[in-house]
Amino acid sequence: MANAERMEAQLKALSLISEQGEEGTTRLSYTPEYRKGADYIKKLMEEAGLTVREDAAGLVWGLLPGTDPDAPKLISGSHLDTVRCSGFYDGQAGIICALEAARMIKESGKPLKGDFEVVAIPMEEGARFPNLTGSKLAAGVLKEADLDLVKDTEGTTLREAMLSYGLTGKLDGVDRSKEKVKAFIELHMEQGTLLEDEGIDLGVVDGIFGCYWKTITVRGEVSHPSTPMAKRKDAGLAACRIVSDLSEHVAKNYVGKATVTCGKMDFHPGEINAIPSRAVFSVDFRSGDKKNFDELDAYLAEKIAQVEKDYRVKVEQEVFSNTPPTPNTPAIMNALTTGAKNLGLKSAVLPSGAGHDTMIFAKIWPTGMIFIPSHEGYTHSPREYTDPRNLANGADLIAEAIRILDAQ
Ligand SMILES: [Zn+2]
Repeated sequence: MANAERMEAQLKALSLISEQGEEGTTRLSYTPEYRKGADYIKKLMEEAGLTVREDAAGLVWGLLPGTDPDAPKLISGSHLDTVRCSGFYDGQAGIICALEAARMIKESGKPLKGDFEVVAIPMEEGARFPNLTGSKLAAGVLKEADLDLVKDTEGTTLREAMLSYGLTGKLDGVDRSKEKVKAFIELHMEQGTLLEDEGIDLGVVDGIFGCYWKTITVRGEVSHPSTPMAKRKDAGLAACRIVSDLSEHVAKNYVGKATVTCGKMDFHPGEINAIPSRAVFSVDFRSGDKKNFDELDAYLAEKIAQVEKDYRVKVEQEVFSNTPPTPNTPAIMNALTTGAKNLGLKSAVLPSGAGHDTMIFAKIWPTGMIFIPSHEGYTHSPREYTDPRNLANGADLIAEAIRILDAQ
């Protein structure tokens, strides 16, 4: 079984490498702090008996060779970079649990047929470079030419950052999209409290929420605040009605299935003594099922028609961005659910509201995700915490699911 104390000690040691005072862990990709973190992971991989390779994009791979060179590979890991002032579980727990799983498989004396690789990925967080850049390089989504186009928040190109980190600035051997891989499994802390609240040991993630953004413009008529209420064409009030009804509708009918957020609203002319002639606001829908986006779009259209009538305004909609949901692979979800059962652990199927590298690897490989409980739901915070027992359960489930999939 997994050694909870060892994993917790490794995570603490990893955080101390990058910690800045009491502000939590900051390990931005391709910085000297990231180098120290990557070197520590390499050392742990070597100690666990894995063959270590750092590829040309700085992903660190630890290989446990299988017995059959023709058998498909199995991969598990997560991201090593953090946002500023993070905790020491987000991303990092997924690497340490995969490493513990590899160690258990090796020490069991019963090797796998396929190669098992543990991976530590840079640039998942958007804290320096755009998010998911590390997995996009490994999945062949970003190419050599993109190294001069993708820039960090300071304007440094990816290639320049790679060179200063000690890499070649080329992508030789980075793209793994042509390889025969049976499963990529990522363990992550839940970004919520469902598992903790319900007393569930592990979450099997069925998919990652898609994200559907709209910009909505309401046009009314500017007028003095002394205008009788019934005579107005108040664009601001109409916008607020749409947002409030839409939010209530989602809160009531889509619990655990979808969310809606209005994060931005501007009124024109934006004066204390003027009825707004125009209101522009954003709508952010998230869901694991595209069907919910279609349903909510229909509800929104209905609501707009009603508001146009009630408030005597005109409303225009524009789609700003549309990232579809990413479903995980049923066969891998089954292996995770069966694995949890074999281990006597309570699991539940749930979606991920946040994006992960798994979204990118799902374009080229079968994927699965495990959530471990997060105490009070903190992530991207120095207050992140999970009981060491959850780390052990996670590592045990990775090892068990990898065995089940390898035997299929
Ligand atoms: Zn993360």
